[in-house]
Amino acid sequence: MSEAKVPSSKPSHAYRPETRLVHGGVLRSQYGETSEALFLTQGFIYESAEQCEARFTGHDPGFLYSRFSNPTVSMFEQRMVELEGAEAARATATGMAAVTTAILAPLRAGDHVVAAKALFGSCRYVVEDLLPRYGIQSTLVDGHDLDQWQKAMKPNTKTCFLESPTNPTLDVVDISAVAEIAHRGGARLIVDNVFATPIWQSPLALGADAVVYSATKHIDGQGRCLGGVILSSKDFIQEHIHTFLRQTGPAMSPFNAWVLLKGLETLSLRVKAQTETAAALADVLAKHPKISRLVYPGRSDHPQADIVKKQMRGGSTLIGFEVKGGKAAAFRTLNALKLAKISNNLGDSKSIVTHPATTTHQRLTPEVRAELGIGEGFIRFSAGLEHRDDLIEDFTAALEKA
Ligand SMILES: *Cc1c(COP(=O)(O)O)cnc(C)c1O
Repeated sequence: MSEAKVPSSKPSHAYRPETRLVHGGVLRSQYGETSEALFLTQGFIYESAEQCEARFTGHDPGFLYSRFSNPTVSMFEQRMVELEGAEAARATATGMAAVTTAILAPLRAGDHVVAAKALFGSCRYVVEDLLPRYGIQSTLVDGHDLDQWQKAMKPNTKTCFLESPTNPTLDVVDISAVAEIAHRGGARLIVDNVFATPIWQSPLALGADAVVYSATKHIDGQGRCLGGVILSSKDFIQEHIHTFLRQTGPAMSPFNAWVLLKGLETLSLRVKAQTETAAALADVLAKHPKISRLVYPGRSDHPQADIVKKQMRGGSTLIGFEVKGGKAAAFRTLNALKLAKISNNLGDSKSIVTHPATTTHQRLTPEVRAELGIGEGFIRFSAGLEHRDDLIEDFTAALEKA
């Protein structure tokens, strides 16, 4: 890759997001390939012992070892940097590797973390169970109660963590207000932006210090592979993330980086189409007699509709709704759906339904689930790329069996 060069003199920052998603970060080899090259290599060969030494000391910026630098992975990182408007990024093997690294790497025993309690199940495990085992205490708060965030802050609070909209109940947290509370207390704010996607929400512009994604979700969007990414300032990545990833090794495989690069090319098209479908289905379900509650960011009846308007550019590819009749009715509905598949991915081109109480959030006690609004009849729907009328017909027919 010594002859790699960036093909265009105009940085892709100068273009709109859709353009950045196609051209951002491309490193072309001497062959001038159209599509991003897949560098399935563990490492690199040096022209001389001196060059090898310079790579190891960092004086030569070339690639070294695919545990921490690989041209295909770098293209993915750079495309994400340009899309998100971050200064730097590091890709990881999974979304959980990104979340765990972003939270754990900058901390040490004696530090304290404040996080919103409505979190993806594994994120909650990291904050609630894992960190305390290493002497890092954590406090969970109700994400949309700013007083609780304020009261939970301690002199040793170093990190605040939230996701918005939340999984699976699609609550929305005021990112700039929490960022202000965090910064006043000398802490950083990390936002898990999976549900919003980079298309609809930019946490860094709202005051967050770092953003994490599970690239497994909308970024791949076609259910093929796992991946994650941490985006932040150059200082944060250099000081806290780079060495941790380099030495502990949760690296993204070049193959997955290549798949994800191709996924990014269509991200905007897919997310916009999925959002339109979800919005249309939400309007139908909201009026359905067998549904007792529906949450959709983008509808005026969303509990935090004003914050949605303030911090998001669009609604959501996901809907949350409660079927009357609890678990039995929810299961009858899931089993009667023909098109929407029972699975636990989201952001996929295939529509997916999930029953959080028995899957992603089964680790929690029924009381904690109730507190989070995850009832026994609650279903999470992730809109795919099917025709929306087929999905509306599928749900209408399935709900008759509820
Ligand atoms: C899926 C998900 C993760 C974890 O990502 P993996 O790629 O499955 O490790 C983290 N946060 C949220 C909000 C998610 O939906």
